[in-house]
Amino acid sequence: MRKGEITKVSGPLVVAKGMRGSKMYDVVRVSDERLVGEIVGLDGDLASIQVYEDTSGIGPGEPIFMTDEPLFVELGPGLIESIFDGIQRPLDIIKEKAGDYITRGIEISALERDKKWHFKPTVKSSAEVGPGDILGEVQETELVVHKILVPPRVQGKIKSIREGDFLVTDVICTLEYEKEKVELTMMQRWPVRIPRPYRERLAPSLTLSTGQRVIDTFFPIAKGGTACCPGPFGSGKTVIQHQLAKWADAEIIVYIGCGERGNEMTDVLLEFPELKDPRSGEPLMKRTVLIANTSNMPVAAREASVYTGITIAEYFRDMGYSVAVMADSTSRWAEAMREISGRLEEMPGEEGYPAYLAARVSSFYERAGRVKTLGKPAREGALSVVGAVSPPGGDLSDPVVQATLRVVKVFWSLEDKLAYQRHFPAISWLNSYSLYIDDVADDLNKKTAKGFTDLSREAMKLLEEEAELQEIVRLIGVDALSPEDRLILEGARSIREDFLHQNAFHEIDTYASLKKQHKMLAICMFNYNKAKEALKRGVAFDDIVKMDIRDKIARMKYLEESGMEKIDGIREELTAEFDRMIRGDNIERQGDEETKRRGDRETKRQGAKETERQGEER
Ligand code: ADP
Repeated sequence: MRKGEITKVSGPLVVAKGMRGSKMYDVVRVSDERLVGEIVGLDGDLASIQVYEDTSGIGPGEPIFMTDEPLFVELGPGLIESIFDGIQRPLDIIKEKAGDYITRGIEISALERDKKWHFKPTVKSSAEVGPGDILGEVQETELVVHKILVPPRVQGKIKSIREGDFLVTDVICTLEYEKEKVELTMMQRWPVRIPRPYRERLAPSLTLSTGQRVIDTFFPIAKGGTACCPGPFGSGKTVIQHQLAKWADAEIIVYIGCGERGNEMTDVLLEFPELKDPRSGEPLMKRTVLIANTSNMPVAAREASVYTGITIAEYFRDMGYSVAVMADSTSRWAEAMREISGRLEEMPGEEGYPAYLAARVSSFYERAGRVKTLGKPAREGALSVVGAVSPPGGDLSDPVVQATLRVVKVFWSLEDKLAYQRHFPAISWLNSYSLYIDDVADDLNKKTAKGFTDLSREAMKLLEEEAELQEIVRLIGVDALSPEDRLILEGARSIREDFLHQNAFHEIDTYASLKKQHKMLAICMFNYNKAKEALKRGVAFDDIVKMDIRDKIARMKYLEESGMEKIDGIREELTAEFDRMIRGDNIERQGDEETKRRGDRETKRQGAKETERQGEER
């Protein structure tokens, strides 16, 4: 193995000489402790190396061992349920071997080498296979069937393939290609910085439903889409990510945690394995891969973890799955870039971040997409990416937020103002946006009933009108508004409270199917439109807002999916109630209560007329 020599150590950055012949992003082992590092700068004979482990105690004169290959991940059965660090070392096994703290330079393979998996071929001997073809399957967990794929760039005629229990390193299939024998195992390797190939990119025309009303109805994300949710501390980023992991329409979850303070990551490590997959009742981990940077790892490892995570996700996408990647938080990754760039003495950009910040961020999000995969049988896979960003003080002009907003198509703006008001999820309906609305409209309407997207647009208009009216109310008070305007406030309130409020911790409310969302929103808008009509036909505003049925509307969200016809019942009741009120104004009414109310209204009207007259006289 070729060797270089350390000339300088500065935190996670090491400079070495004698490195001629190396390439950018080659992996090297640093010192006799063989710490893992990656070349991030080359200048003639000198190489700058970012080291993914603690460099204390290492000094000039110590050797560097060159591997002449880039950072790879291992892909195969055993990924699911694993908790890896940034360079794909299994944390649980390290803990078993070396105790609570990661000892440096520890060599552990990513995929367990002594576990056998039952492989069932799905192709026959003598078949011609090429890149991406499915050779067979392994039931990896109760929830995931792991497809064994022919690696990219490999092809040939199958000479032998067999069913049985194998290690990931056992040969399960031999191919012949141009008289050469090729042996395939269940495991393949892939360099993390290179996107895995696919056949064709598809339009983002399918919704990734999440069961979260504010997201699906107003700011939907497409399968293969990208979203970001910046927000200050305590605004609900973690809850949103957990909700997405549980409920998003994705078979595989890859969670990349770049925590800074120790506790941010321990929360994930402790909480995630506790989560249950709501649909199957199994632990959510049975379809999850966790990548975690613990606080005793140097910042540079965050960079590796982002690439490791997305590569694993691409691998499952290639099997034809819908995969959701959650990165929390990309700000920590950007801070790591800033630190390394500073030590490399590069020209700093905005707020000290390197000038290539935006390029790196976008190359990460660009690996998302819905694709036709390589190989037979033909299949589609989707990789959706949701990144949390935590700008200091929630400031959206932060360079990381800006770089992210330039590439992602959905922006869920989490606001502490809403969180203080206990409006959860605290996603602002005025500042958030989704650029997929038109792309997924047909799909949404197909999955609900016709008219869903029109309804959502109408509701959003009402919320916007409310915001304008609130400006006026702040200036001159609510009494100055006409009854029509007050009705707008009332309609918008109902959308906010009866529809948008969603309690992640309520057994039923935690998830709403698209159909239920449609029905609920339809009731809110029906109520508003009926009220508008009633007002036009002389029913008093106060009578409208006093209707008892409002309680039922508020409790719609707690109706089970199986009891949705009750929502249709509310519509019938509303119709009857409004008809009664409208009729009541024109025909003679019975009953004291009614007469009294009408009397009140009459007095009020006369009073108003009186004031008006007095005004004119003056
Ligand atoms: P962050 O990760 O942004 O610091 P969290 O996700 O931990 O914030 O959320 C803070 C608190 O807000 C939670 O502990 C919870 O009480 C409340 N919360 C957030 N979202 C919801 C929700 N959808 N439903 C109910 N409570 C929520």
